[in-house]
Amino acid sequence: MAVERTLSIIKPDAVANNFIGEIYSRFEANDLRIVAAKMALLNKTQAEAFYAVHKERPFYSMLIEFMISGPVMITVLEGEDAIAKYRTLMGATMPEFAAPGTIRYDLAREGKANENAVHGSDAPETAAEEIKFFFKPEEICYRTR
Ligand code: AMP
Repeated sequence: MAVERTLSIIKPDAVANNFIGEIYSRFEANDLRIVAAKMALLNKTQAEAFYAVHKERPFYSMLIEFMISGPVMITVLEGEDAIAKYRTLMGATMPEFAAPGTIRYDLAREGKANENAVHGSDAPETAAEEIKFFFKPEEICYRTR
């Protein structure tokens, strides 16, 4: 296992439901260190660029409208095997299929079907691209202690 970085977005539904603290607690309890964080209200151009890979998918416009519907909390996480570990913590994309105890099962199952609380990078290459999309290198803090 290697130390990795991954990008987390706490989506507008989870921010509105006051789950930022609950989700950050899960990061810390699972040795995912926060090394950069900011809140942002994405504009349409940013959301479309971030999700450009899904441009042709039928859910694309719904996804964009959802992602700009309120502020999001964008966080870089660092830790052993961080990408897979965070994806396990998130649970399946659709909250109704997520395992009990995952973020999506616990914090998104009661909401609208397409509102799934969190985003996490799916591979080292996408993690690097997604982190660069939102953060300059100097905005990422080395944990010196
Ligand atoms: P991903 O890049 O895999 O995180 O997918 C981006 C986001 O698109 C997911 O987190 C969901 O919010 C949304 N999404 C993916 N598949 C569907 C779907 N079949 N219907 C509606 N939204 C979806």
